[in-house]
Parts: sequence; structure tokens; C-alpha cells
Amino acid sequence: MDIAGYLVHLWDLRSAKVIAGIAVVTLLVVLVGGHRALVSGNALANSRVSLLFWFSNTLVTPWLALASAGFVMAYGALGLPSLSSSAWQAVPFPLLVLIAFLANEFWIYWSHRWLHSRWGWPIHAIHHSDTHVNGFTLWRIHVLEAVVMQLFALVMISWMGLPPAAAGAGALVVMLHAVYIHSPLDWDHGPLRMVIASPRFHRWHHADAEAAYNTNLANAVPLFDWLFGTYRTPHRLDAPMGARSAGVPDTDFVSLWVWPFMEWARMIGEAVGVRPRPAAKPTAPLGLEAETYRLNGGRSDRLS
Ligand SMILES: [Zn+2]
Ligand SMILES: [Zn+2]
Repeated sequence: MDIAGYLVHLWDLRSAKVIAGIAVVTLLVVLVGGHRALVSGNALANSRVSLLFWFSNTLVTPWLALASAGFVMAYGALGLPSLSSSAWQAVPFPLLVLIAFLANEFWIYWSHRWLHSRWGWPIHAIHHSDTHVNGFTLWRIHVLEAVVMQLFALVMISWMGLPPAAAGAGALVVMLHAVYIHSPLDWDHGPLRMVIASPRFHRWHHADAEAAYNTNLANAVPLFDWLFGTYRTPHRLDAPMGARSAGVPDTDFVSLWVWPFMEWARMIGEAVGVRPRPAAKPTAPLGLEAETYRLNGGRSDRLS
């Protein structure tokens, strides 16, 4: 099994076909009526930063692929327990695709959950820094986040021994869905809201409102949030986007790129007493200890 090859293929999809998908979906969103959120000066500045992250991340793709291949080799050399790929031979291909999809959702949920922890947040704050969330926001991830997500994926795929064809099937669809849920549309999916994530579901994840922090962590299947107690389903989207209240800038690419390193340095400095603790700031989405919400009959209990 060529896992590294599969992952490089995934990354290629992100870099070429999906950027075209984003353009199409974003154009559709503009036509449908989300145009006001896309054409202000600040919105364009935010999208420019998102694209700068996309571009800068493509520059490190070969190194990431190399590191992935090294990780897979190291994983094999360690002789860690894993399922044999032959274990899946009797399983029909459509079922394999479903299993791979749900496994993928599971690791995305938990890696995303780690990114919302105290030490993971400085990396993930970059994705949350966009104050005008749209399809391009999907690409606004720090290269370290790409590494973290890839490592989680490699551990899962290596352990399960899933055929790459099954693991790769539908990757483009999942990616386009991710573009869709970042669209500036307050759309809900009614009775299917627990099965397929809607723009409202994910845009609440990006809301700069204390009650929304650390909720709706799933990628495409909100059921995982319901299962693990982080589901939140307000009636409408009525909160600002971004992480400004946590002090994260929205349009300064260089500051955002160095943000994780500066934050970790500050946190370590505080921990060893080199730097005094700053005055209390507004509550930032730094930990999982924040209040979380279970399904409440489809109604908001705090913000509606
Ligand atoms: Zn997040
Ligand atoms: Zn997002």
C-alpha cells in the first residue's frame, strides 16, 4: 500500500481541482446573495490572506510528502499493531468507502478537538482569524495545522490498513463540501442537520462568541459532535466571525504566520516566570473546558 502516494494525491487535489471548485462555489454564493459579505474592502483583504496561506502552503508540499513517507516508514519499523489490509478483502467496496469516510470524520473530529486545546489553539487560531468567512477560508490554515492533520490521518490509515482506493474515494466531494460549509450563507439542513453539516453549523464554529467556542468540531457529520457533547445548533447566525476578541489579527499575513511561535514563546515564558502574566483578556477559545452544548431540540439555549 502506497499511503504516502495517496496523501500526495490528496494534497494535489487540494492544490489544483479544489481551488477551481472554490472559485465556482464562491461565485455561486455571490450570485445567490451572500455578495455583501464578499465585496467589502475588509472582506477582500481577508480573502487575500487566505489565498496567501494557500500559496505559501503549496511551497512546502514536497517536504510534507517527504516527511509523510518517513513517518510511514518509521511507523512500519516500530512494528506497532495494525489491521492487515487482507482483513478488508471480503468487504464490498461501497461499504469500505463508507467505513473510510467515517474513520476519516472520526480522526478529523479528534484532531480538530486537539487544535482547540491550550497548546493546539495557537496553530488553529489562523483558520479562525478570518472575520469574513467564505470558501477561501478553508485554505487559511497554518502549515503546522496541515502537518498535524496529516499525522493524525497517517496514524489512522496506517493502523486500519484501509485500501487507498477506498480512503481516497470521495475526497474531492468532501473537500467541496468543506468549501460549501464556509460559504456566507445562513443555511440549515432541517431534518438532515445531524447527518450533513450545513453552512450554519460550521459558521457557528467560526463565531466569535463565547458560547460558541469549542463547539461543532465535526467536519461533515455533526453526529460526532452530538456523540461527544460539543454539538450546538442555534436558530440563526447572529454573531461576528473571527477571533478578534482573543487578540488574533485578521488581515496581517506575516503576524498570522508567526503567531503560533510567538504565542508558544509567550506561554512558555509565562510558565517559567520569565514574563509577567498579562492582564485578563476577554475569554479566548483556548480550551475544552468552555461550556459545551448538547442537542437541545434544535433550539438555541443561549444566543438565539
Ligand atoms: Zn476550529
Ligand atoms: Zn472552518
